[in-house]
Amino acid sequence: MLLRALVAATFVLSLGACVQRDYLVADPADNGVPAGEARYTDNLSYVTRYSPNVEVIALRLDPAFPVDERREILRAVGEWNHVLNGYVRFEATIRVFHAEGQRSDPAPPRANVWSILPARGAMPIGGRVIRPMAVLQPLPNGGGVVMIYRETAVAAIATAVRHELGHVLGLAHDPASRLMSPIHDPQVQQCIDKATVAAVARMRDLPLDQLNWCEDSQTAR
Ligand SMILES: [Zn+2]
Repeated sequence: MLLRALVAATFVLSLGACVQRDYLVADPADNGVPAGEARYTDNLSYVTRYSPNVEVIALRLDPAFPVDERREILRAVGEWNHVLNGYVRFEATIRVFHAEGQRSDPAPPRANVWSILPARGAMPIGGRVIRPMAVLQPLPNGGGVVMIYRETAVAAIATAVRHELGHVLGLAHDPASRLMSPIHDPQVQQCIDKATVAAVARMRDLPLDQLNWCEDSQTAR
């Protein structure tokens, strides 16, 4: 398990700086907040299989995640699918990530597949060693890798995955947004807020009134 994570990490680091890497960083004392009952809107979506702008994004979940961590990852995936209401859909399967196989392919086909892997350890970033919760690395041919650090508390994993899937959808960091803040804040990142959903709708030309967002008074904007 560790070896596979190491191989994957080496693979990811060997990609160099050709594509932008993302880190979600936590305070070392941050143990997350257990998932609360985020209240989401339940708007009607008129999307059909023939609608334009519909996209399926494949997620490959490494089977090395223990069941409690996998549950938190799938919770975040499920929330995004509810928010996106059929216009974009994440499809998660549990599969081993074959880093070496991908490397030996001279011209891998363009694919929108994201592998979610466990990783371990602190990293030197920007001249100091920090403790990332998650790192996202896009691949040149589409898709990429999301690494969830094993030091991340189980209670914070859903939050980390919500944030990283925001990047997978194309969102950048936004200091005004709650979910897409680059520093983990367990108090306000418990769900997918309206400002974040509005940004996805603008970017992908989707009807905001057919999407969903959390109505929690603490996180809704
Ligand atoms: Zn980020």
